[in-house]
Amino acid sequence: MDSYDDNNIFARIIRNEILSNNVYEDEEILAFHDNNPLAPVHILIIPKVAKIIGPSEISRSDASLMGKMVYVATELARKFGIDKTGFRLVMNNGSDAGQTVPHIHLHLLGGGTLSNIA
Ligand code: AMP
Repeated sequence: MDSYDDNNIFARIIRNEILSNNVYEDEEILAFHDNNPLAPVHILIIPKVAKIIGPSEISRSDASLMGKMVYVATELARKFGIDKTGFRLVMNNGSDAGQTVPHIHLHLLGGGTLSNIA
């Protein structure tokens, strides 16, 4: 298993070394606009403290944090007015899924008809 890279882009965003367009933050979670959006609303929800590369590394003790990420995503769907029109939550894991940043993240996508899922 790869070890967590403390210098990945999202770790640097959490440390405020790289600017992000934030839409939500608490002690555990940060959410910000994707800087290369694939839908009219494209927000990333990430854990701030937990050093998890991707979903394949989640353990039982991470379950409530993962649930909170999903909850924050649905709150943001409401905030950005896409809860009624529809949205998609995506977590990529590894190369086949095209994961590019090795810090676990949840994509919130919506605001228009989305293309096929795979
Ligand atoms: P994934 O392909 O699932 O690893 O998604 C990583 C996402 O992070 C992509 O949609 C990128 O556009 C996005 N991204 C990369 N760097 C930044 C950044 N500095 N600010 C905001 N989003 C970023």
